[in-house]
Amino acid sequence: MTHEIAVIPGDGIGQEVTPAAVEVLEAIETVDFEFVEGDAGDAVKAETGEALPQETRDIAADADATLFGAAGETAADVILPLREVVGSFANVRPARSYPGLDAVQPDTDIVFIRENTEGVYTGIESEITEGVRTLTRVITEEASRDIAEYGFDYAKRNGYEDVTIAHKANVMRQTDGLFLETAEAVAEERSVPRTDERASGEAASSGLTYDTALMDALAMHLVMTPEEYDVIVCPNLAGDMLSDLSAGLVGGLGLLPSANVGEDNALFEPVHGSAPDIAGEGVANPSAMILSAAMLLEHLGYDEEGEHVRTAVESVLESGPRTPDLGGDAGTTDVTDAVVDEL
Ligand code: ATP
Ligand code: MG
Repeated sequence: MTHEIAVIPGDGIGQEVTPAAVEVLEAIETVDFEFVEGDAGDAVKAETGEALPQETRDIAADADATLFGAAGETAADVILPLREVVGSFANVRPARSYPGLDAVQPDTDIVFIRENTEGVYTGIESEITEGVRTLTRVITEEASRDIAEYGFDYAKRNGYEDVTIAHKANVMRQTDGLFLETAEAVAEERSVPRTDERASGEAASSGLTYDTALMDALAMHLVMTPEEYDVIVCPNLAGDMLSDLSAGLVGGLGLLPSANVGEDNALFEPVHGSAPDIAGEGVANPSAMILSAAMLLEHLGYDEEGEHVRTAVESVLESGPRTPDLGGDAGTTDVTDAVVDEL
């Protein structure tokens, strides 16, 4: 079976790190890929007037999955519609520290499962009168259920032990009340006990437990004791902020992959942007993009291959060539070649 992958490098270092990820995928002998390239971003906008041409949308819509690099000024005009094209409801952002690298918290392995369609990012804002503006925060049972189900399934599939549901239902009683209630209902349907019930000896049908956490207190706990968390399911804005916070704990944008997952399509991208300050110099760290490709493999059901890629990246990070952001003087291709050699 051949998997069609849309490849959209975009701008800046997207042009350098995306080919690195493609090279790594091509090195996986057990999976067949067909890569179809599309343009998006500042450069194509300057040429055609459109940051995301219809042709690129079609390529992403028809593919089994998309690899996206980065877009510069036009980022919002590219990534928001692309997330819609793949029908993405979940933003998956692992924050994992790697052996041998400096990190604020070297014992971190957390995966944020962020609701990606509503919350405060609805764009429903208005000026009531001069000096007074409002924003409508939308939480639906359907989207809350989708993200909670995805979070619990993800935790189970990937061998994590605990799910934390982040919320602020004590203040946003209606909206986060619904989010929390729905997520807890999903836990109950799956017979996942609360962490404290597990401690008191209640039997569970799965190895998982779950807990709930107020998102502000959670921010503090993440800084102090990130090793206590596994999978964190969050509303949109909280997921955005808490995952960035945790990115800071493990050290460096060049390391963080992400996935935008939909019902039957998905898009994988590094957390970093186009990095215009280093673009064109051949020194961008390809790790985040290659780790995004590992997530793509897992998404397509190739867990073992995904794990191989991750292990290869880990081993290069520990003892292979390093790009300048990690204190080395290697280039993008040196690191990519080292990862391919490991494979
Ligand atoms: P954009 O507007 O596209 O987000 P930006 O200026 O915000 O661009 P980012 O890509 O978000 O840039 O990167 C922020 C900083 O991190 C920059 O100094 C950049 O060089 C660095 N950086 C980001 N990604 C990488 C990478 N893969 N390798 C090395 N350095 C990186
Ligand atoms: Mg940026």
